[in-house]
Amino acid sequence: MLSQRSSQLSMYQADVEYLDRVGPQSFFGQVAQSRSRLFRDDDFAALYCPDNGRPAVPPSRLAVALLLQAHDKVSDAEAIERANFDVRWCVALGIEIATRPFAKSTLQLFRSQLLIHDQAGAVFQASLEEAKRKGLLRGKKRTIALDTTPIFGKGAVQDTYNLLATGIVMLVRALAATAQQKPAEWAASHGLSRYFGRSLKGEAAINWDKKAEREALLRSIVSDAQRLLELVRTVRAALPADAPEAAKIAQAAELLCQLLAQDIDGLDSDEPHLRQGVSRDRMPSATDPEMRHGRKSKRSRFDGHKAALAVDTETGLITDADVIAGNAPDNENALELVTGTEGNTGCEVDKTLGDCAYGDGATRQKFADAQRELVARTPGRPEGQLSKDEFSIDLEGDRVTCPGGHTVQGSMSRSREGQRWRLFQFPAAVCAACPLRPQCVKGKGGRLLTIHPQEALLQQARAYEATDEFREDVIRRQVVEHRIARLTQLGIRKSRFFGRQKTKFQLLMASAVANLTLVWGGSVPADDAAPAAADKGIVKAACGLSSSLRRALSGSLRALRGLPKAFRAPMARCRPVLVATC
Ligand code: SF4
Repeated sequence: MLSQRSSQLSMYQADVEYLDRVGPQSFFGQVAQSRSRLFRDDDFAALYCPDNGRPAVPPSRLAVALLLQAHDKVSDAEAIERANFDVRWCVALGIEIATRPFAKSTLQLFRSQLLIHDQAGAVFQASLEEAKRKGLLRGKKRTIALDTTPIFGKGAVQDTYNLLATGIVMLVRALAATAQQKPAEWAASHGLSRYFGRSLKGEAAINWDKKAEREALLRSIVSDAQRLLELVRTVRAALPADAPEAAKIAQAAELLCQLLAQDIDGLDSDEPHLRQGVSRDRMPSATDPEMRHGRKSKRSRFDGHKAALAVDTETGLITDADVIAGNAPDNENALELVTGTEGNTGCEVDKTLGDCAYGDGATRQKFADAQRELVARTPGRPEGQLSKDEFSIDLEGDRVTCPGGHTVQGSMSRSREGQRWRLFQFPAAVCAACPLRPQCVKGKGGRLLTIHPQEALLQQARAYEATDEFREDVIRRQVVEHRIARLTQLGIRKSRFFGRQKTKFQLLMASAVANLTLVWGGSVPADDAAPAAADKGIVKAACGLSSSLRRALSGSLRALRGLPKAFRAPMARCRPVLVATC
């Protein structure tokens, strides 16, 4: 059941006594002064049963804890330790020092509830609301910059032998649970004990230098996997279709099938063998099946996901964030980030800036169809040959004139990815006699020019690239690189969680911290600092005690907490009286 944080300020709260020590301008001090307007318990009411159950820890307090955890980049266990013993955390949370505000499972359950109820972005949204309260993101149309950055996945990356072994172990666990047996026992009874040792490859008694022995081992693993999948059919036939065990078995069996299909050729034959090359959309990890092989550049590879970001160029605020597959093109969700920004900020986006990964014709067409402006460098031309830019292309007249002065009509078209491409073929005889041929034509025959379906949009973009305005846009776009650097400081380069959904949660939390540090970067405006300072002043004045005397009184009360329960109960009754009297 939802529990509300008290709006009363107690003299025992850490922020009353230690805010000055922690620093009102520090992140913890700023959270202490802003928490009541950042998070309200009612905002999380949908996560709780309205009329039943124990009163929960106030969700606004747990939201602050998640924010502090993202700021300090600590584990759940460490977050609980800090909430219990770190004065800065106690100040930010507004709790008494050395109290135990919540258990680790409570924090984890709250995070799960946010994910289940589609409120993973609640803390991130609060950071944007704070920016609006400070006068940022108000009114006028915005320009945003888009970019992506790699996130290394949490799942173990394995080679094919170990991947299949992990897939087999996961399926065995699901089948053993249905049979109400321990996995190792179930595996032993089905001749699969070797998968429950320390390491399948390490314990395999083969000479790894000999191809025949490697292939024999692989065949035996594939055979075990196929035998297990056959068994799955029998077990599932005996289970009701809607049984939860059936769903778990189906999930594990599907994973094993995918692992087999992506890496093994000749599955139907007697001699299955390793596939040459890498399958499209290959899973490198069985423990996180959503991880993919990605590339940062031609030579730099990673395994995991990609963070896709939208950043307001004027304020540097992150306005939307998403996690896409590691092998997805950077421009995959460009338009969604624009609409997401508008939804999150309530401001209209009138210009979107991207690097050349967003400059292809298809992305430009999407933006043009949505009547939005996209500024991105067009993809570069291959060097060493007269580029297409040096030809005069008349799209309306459907003709092209080359630098040698010869003109040809569009002679044919072909379909690629559902789109028509115009082809312009210069006659071989004309090119053979041309002095520019060495720089223009590779191989035999005449020059062939392929015209993109969105050539008109690309021509517009190339013309814009020659302007001063474009150069200013390139400089403005750099803000997204700076925000990526800040997010990297906040630990987003490595995912703390399995799966894309939870990784996105981590990204949104880091983005919230990055936004709040930016919003609070300067001094707190007087109108924001005043209420908290006034509250604190009221408590001090009401007490009518010097700081040292208040500390002595607090110390005495804390010392009394160490007394036996019989003494503590009367003191607990006295405390409100003490506060009221002070
Ligand atoms: S080689 Fe052919 S296409 Fe190229 S400039 Fe000469 S005539 Fe034109």
